[in-house]
Amino acid sequence: MSVLTILDSVPTRLFIGGQWVQASDSATFPVVNPATGKVIAEVADATAADGEAALTAAANAQKAWAATSPRERANILAKAFDLVIEHRDELAAIITAEMGKPFAESVAEVNYGAEFLRWFAEETTHFAGRYSVAPDGRNRLMVHHRPVGPSLLITPWNFPLAMATRKVAPALAAGCTSVLKPAALTPLTALRFAELLQDAGVPAGVVNVVPTTQPGELTGPLLRDERLRKVSFTGSTAVGRAIIRDSAEQVLRVSMELGGNAPFLVFEDADLDAAIEGAMVAKLRNGGEACVAANRFLIHESIAEQFTSRLVKRMNEVTMGDGAQPETQLGPLIDEKSRTKVHSLVESAVLAGATLRTGGEILPGEGYFYPATVLTDIPAGAQILREEIFGPVAPITTFRSEEEAVSLANNSEYGLVCFAYTKDLNRTLRLAESLETGMLGINTGVVSNPAAPFGGVKQSGLGREGGAEGILEYLETVYVGISDPNER
Ligand code: NAD
Repeated sequence: MSVLTILDSVPTRLFIGGQWVQASDSATFPVVNPATGKVIAEVADATAADGEAALTAAANAQKAWAATSPRERANILAKAFDLVIEHRDELAAIITAEMGKPFAESVAEVNYGAEFLRWFAEETTHFAGRYSVAPDGRNRLMVHHRPVGPSLLITPWNFPLAMATRKVAPALAAGCTSVLKPAALTPLTALRFAELLQDAGVPAGVVNVVPTTQPGELTGPLLRDERLRKVSFTGSTAVGRAIIRDSAEQVLRVSMELGGNAPFLVFEDADLDAAIEGAMVAKLRNGGEACVAANRFLIHESIAEQFTSRLVKRMNEVTMGDGAQPETQLGPLIDEKSRTKVHSLVESAVLAGATLRTGGEILPGEGYFYPATVLTDIPAGAQILREEIFGPVAPITTFRSEEEAVSLANNSEYGLVCFAYTKDLNRTLRLAESLETGMLGINTGVVSNPAAPFGGVKQSGLGREGGAEGILEYLETVYVGISDPNER
């Protein structure tokens, strides 16, 4: 099937209560391919009233969905996994068309995203409460879990499928209904995913999808509505903070996957070949538009020049272009605003005295392309070391000792992920205990795994997605105290 045929058949209306509907004011908004700047679809633009209708559908479906058996929910999730895999190439083509990443990376995202459906299908039936004798030997303590209830799921544009499955799958597994609000830049993948969920047997109203260009207007009233019990947000720290504030009124359960500023540490004993491979993945996967992208390269001074020249060589070999072309390794950034931001971070670093080793130039032509870029000699405290770059730019700085490396790595308000290359086991353990991070990759440039708890500390977030922890975000813990059965 050609991309045009695929895009022609993607649903573009809102998905509320199992129906595909227009926005209440019939408004639509354009979705743009960032490789060409051309409009590829017009999607219904949900209003606050549509958001409320979606919550009503979710609230009405909550009781029946919570009453389904774990096996029933597991079977539906397993079917959804099968359907996503069956439609892998089609979903990948949609992701590339609306988000820009190379097709092979979109395929990898579909595989990764689908695994959340499989993981939580399995979790559904394995999850148990507990029964114990109180320490004084008298009462009995029973602990069980109940679904939190209708949940608002807000996702970003950088992984249009995986960020949705990472929330929808545990919500479904736990017995929660939901309103999914995808990013307006990439709504098509979420809408097609909703169609597959419907085909998998998810009942009407259990998952609702409302793309909108007015996110605050839609989510604000939902966060204040007493029928909503939870919000799970993935996106920038600034928006996350605002949602936490709005969640206070109803004291909602809150999960936050926010920004990162990942340090990539290479120690003097590292396998340099592996470190270069890891650096390429940690920096260029998703074009650097990932919360877990390496944002600051901290290299031991004894190997810094060797690491830099090898990285520059590899970055120069990268083929940039439309993600739909098979040779493309680096796609465009998501939009002009993002490209301007990335470029201004590079320009201000250079103005402050940094050396541009490669890239750093916007070439004329259509699309929002930015070349793979390497900077060295960056002054301490430069904006590019403090902010999430969200682009294919590698700023390299050096350290002299492990103590200094840890101190530099921890010098950030964020704490999502760190990467470290070393062969020393004791050092690995020291890093695991001293780095302020939710996740640590040792000798690897990728940590994301549906079976592991993904999430950050400090201003990178609250809660975890995936792993044994993921389902807990959608469950309430209920304790039942039972009088001693041996007492008469
Ligand atoms: P964003 O914060 O602009 O948007 C995220 C989502 O929030 C989108 O759906 C958007 O429409 C919505 N939104 C925006 N303003 C809102 C408001 N006032 N009220 C309610 N919703 C609102 O982020 P983005 O640009 O889409 O994504 C990039 C950010 O996401 C980066 O900071 C990145 O680090 C972060 N991210 C984090 C993780 C993680 O797991 N920690 C994963 C992916 C992306």
